[in-house]
Amino acid sequence: MSNTLEAVAPVQETMFDRFADEFGPEKIVYIYEPRCNLRGIVVIDNSCIGPAIGGIRMTPTVTTEEVFRLARAMTWKNALAGIPHGGGKAGIIADPRNISLAEKEVLIRQFARGIEKLNEYIPGPDMGTDETCMAWVRDEIRRSVGLSSVLGGIPLDQIGATGYGLAVCAESAQKYADVELKGATVSIQGFGNVGQHAARYLAEPSRGSILVSATDVDGTIYNPKGIDIEQLVAIMKEGGGVTGYKDAEKLDRDAFIDIESDIFVPAAQPDVITAENAHRLNCKLILQGANIPATKEAEKILYERKVLSVPDFVANAGGVICGSVEYHGGTKNQAFKEIKEKMIVNTRDVLQKAKDENLTPRAAAISIAKSRVKEAMSYRRAN
Ligand code: NAD
Repeated sequence: MSNTLEAVAPVQETMFDRFADEFGPEKIVYIYEPRCNLRGIVVIDNSCIGPAIGGIRMTPTVTTEEVFRLARAMTWKNALAGIPHGGGKAGIIADPRNISLAEKEVLIRQFARGIEKLNEYIPGPDMGTDETCMAWVRDEIRRSVGLSSVLGGIPLDQIGATGYGLAVCAESAQKYADVELKGATVSIQGFGNVGQHAARYLAEPSRGSILVSATDVDGTIYNPKGIDIEQLVAIMKEGGGVTGYKDAEKLDRDAFIDIESDIFVPAAQPDVITAENAHRLNCKLILQGANIPATKEAEKILYERKVLSVPDFVANAGGVICGSVEYHGGTKNQAFKEIKEKMIVNTRDVLQKAKDENLTPRAAAISIAKSRVKEAMSYRRAN
């Protein structure tokens, strides 16, 4: 007879079955306020290294699962970056393009009050939120990063913290990819904040790389002799696109995949390198500026082809290192110094481990991040 409890009760999948493992998440908190239709989600994944830093994402489709995955990614990124912070993330279900600024302010302020007592979570900007939102959060609860300089912030987009980190990462990565930065050709997909600053810092005289291709939503430009970066940035500042640049061949938006260069920097959207196109990439070194620009299958193909791909949470950590320096009261110069020191060492450690142990760079990076988080967890009181 199988008339047991299991046979009659439906099996219920809980949040724990879906997400929980030995690392977290420590807390999943929902914040609901019907008067302003606030529906917010906070996931503090792991705060053993320190209070979790992670952005607040505002989109109409953000889910608990998405926030959890992003929070977990921040756990690894922050641990690997070597900053004294754990990983967390938040989501507000709203469409920032379909609400007024006043409505957005109400949502953000109400959300901030909802997280006031979650001291182990420090919010920053993410998709749909910015410096102004972080100022509202700070006004409510005195706790946020990504602030304007008048509030003691270090404007990370203005100084190009992530792009700078990518260039420093390349300094360490060059020898593992058999590339010499001096004279190396660079193509960049996504010529926004990250892409423009990566181009600039890679071309600085101490590194000496040459931008040969840039892509944005409108198309791709290519000139094997080199593109004048300042001229291109000026076109972008005036609201133009890369195809407004005269002295280059104009190609389709998706043509970036076949461009020959030593270094490729994806700095636009997720999943642009896939199992279908990974065999076409014509470069030796990939610096992942965007988050998850390559699918798992694509990374496997690149590894087998011996194209060195430095994973996103290693290569694009300049921004969060800057946020941590800001939170601890540091200056812009200290942020540059920390990014340089940390990115050089972390990239080298990851790539050396990958080489020694025949691992993909992502597997090596996760293994280092996990062991740091595990060590921090070992210092917790057991009960
Ligand atoms: P951005 O909005 O300033 O720039 C994005 C660029 O990508 C633009 O030039 C846009 O035209 C281009 N683009 C968008 N869709 C495209 C498409 N389908 N094909 C080609 N180009 C396309 O954004 P950003 O701040 O530079 O961020 C870029 C990526 O880097 C994002 O994935 C972001 O999550 C990630 N990232 C950013 C930071 C940061 O400090 N800003 C830090 C870590 C990771």
